Amino acid sequence: MTPGTGERFTAVVIGAGHAGLAASYFLSQRSIDHVVLERGEIANSWRQERWESLRLLTPNWQSRLPGLRYEGPDPDGYMTMGEVTEFIERFAKICAAPVRAGLNVTSVRPAEDGYELTTSQGAISARAVVIASGACNAPAVPALADAVPAAVRQLTPFDYRDPAGLPDGGVLVVGASATGVQLAAELARSGRPVTLSVGEHTRLPRTYRGRDVLWWMDAAGVWDQRYDELEDLGRARRLPSPQLVGTPERTALDLNALGAVGVGLVGRLAAVRDGRALFSGGLRNVFSLADLKMNRLLGTFDDWAAQAGRDAEVDAPERFEPTRVPETTRLQLNLGGGEIQTIVWATGFRPDYRWLDVPVVDAKGQLRHEGGVVDSPGLYALGLPVLRRRKSTFIYGIEDDAREVVDHLARYLTAVRM
Ligand SMILES: Cc1cc2nc3c(=O)[nH]c(=O)nc-3n(C[C@H](O)[C@H](O)[C@H](O)COP(=O)(O)OP(=O)(O)OC[C@H]3O[C@@H](n4cnc5c(N)ncnc54)[C@H](O)[C@@H]3O)c2cc1C
Repeated sequence: MTPGTGERFTAVVIGAGHAGLAASYFLSQRSIDHVVLERGEIANSWRQERWESLRLLTPNWQSRLPGLRYEGPDPDGYMTMGEVTEFIERFAKICAAPVRAGLNVTSVRPAEDGYELTTSQGAISARAVVIASGACNAPAVPALADAVPAAVRQLTPFDYRDPAGLPDGGVLVVGASATGVQLAAELARSGRPVTLSVGEHTRLPRTYRGRDVLWWMDAAGVWDQRYDELEDLGRARRLPSPQLVGTPERTALDLNALGAVGVGLVGRLAAVRDGRALFSGGLRNVFSLADLKMNRLLGTFDDWAAQAGRDAEVDAPERFEPTRVPETTRLQLNLGGGEIQTIVWATGFRPDYRWLDVPVVDAKGQLRHEGGVVDSPGLYALGLPVLRRRKSTFIYGIEDDAREVVDHLARYLTAVRM
């Protein structure tokens, strides 16, 4: 089908994760005709791109979407992948989202009256487009991976399913944010010698003063902080995910916990040269910075509880043991010697906009936008880090963002009609 001859909608949403479905919810509320285009199935990222043992790190009571909240028996538990998928499917039903599954968008470009989309099922045009295609479509792997000897198997969290999928022998996990610490712990429990390369990270306890740490973030208003009120928005958008895991036991998963199960800690991976992985020194500084930031945050929680008169509801303030610095730290590992059989790159994720033929992506591959209003009339985004609030990428963060972004979209449609 040639461009311009396909179907036409007022709005098109790209992606049927929770963000795209929330956009659909508010578009329907405003009676804006639209379609949600999804290359896979509803909740595709949770089905295809996560590992077996993963549970949400946000507690069940925080799994809420417009018109849907968790009402099961375990509000403080953490959903398995099957449960998240079911939850998002339920949301799609509740909002009767007009989803076209199995339809890949391969190009979006500006047209006279909006945008022209090329898809695996023909051309579609729309006056407005909401990009809800995800912030984590691809693993971000540093270029130094190319210098790793061929004998070492390299995996990303997208390839990793469970420890059984790895060869026996040592594993180097690079990156100590949520993904890295979770995979390092699971691999160590499988009996493999694990080394974890640690750079800047965000340490958090699972519970604080008897409550989930994310309860504190919510109650103290940290997650509601708006993008236009933050001192350093760029930094807030790049913050590493916290060292948290969702387990029925509500266990903490910081570097002390990993040290206790035998995970060896090394510094940031700085280079791979002549078959050797070279790590930065200065673990002590990296650890004390993370401890300092954690304690500062806990101090904010304490201040909030005192000022809000909530001290009686929670346990007494507590402080945690500083991160233990290993007596000796290795500054290099011979990757050719057989000690390391596998490297797991837990170095973050990035969006994929190769299909977006609108000049709105910066040199770092990020969309240029102001609170989800993309730098091209009628083009919007949802689900990106600190899009409008600190909670923007979280399931429970989408409701406020989606409402405001769709409000803007509706105003735009009215303005261009006049
Ligand atoms: C490992 C991990 C753990 C996380 N844990 C939590 C947690 O505990 N709690 C929490 O609240 N959040 C968590 N998040 C953050 C967030 O909730 C998820 O990333 C979530 O999947 C984001 O939803 P989304 O709708 O923005 O994007 P996605 O769920 O990624 O949905 C985007 C959809 O767009 C589709 N798509 C992409 N490109 C195209 C195209 N060209 N054409 C058609 N369709 C396309 C994809 O197939 C996908 O279905 C986690 C994220 C990761 C990566």
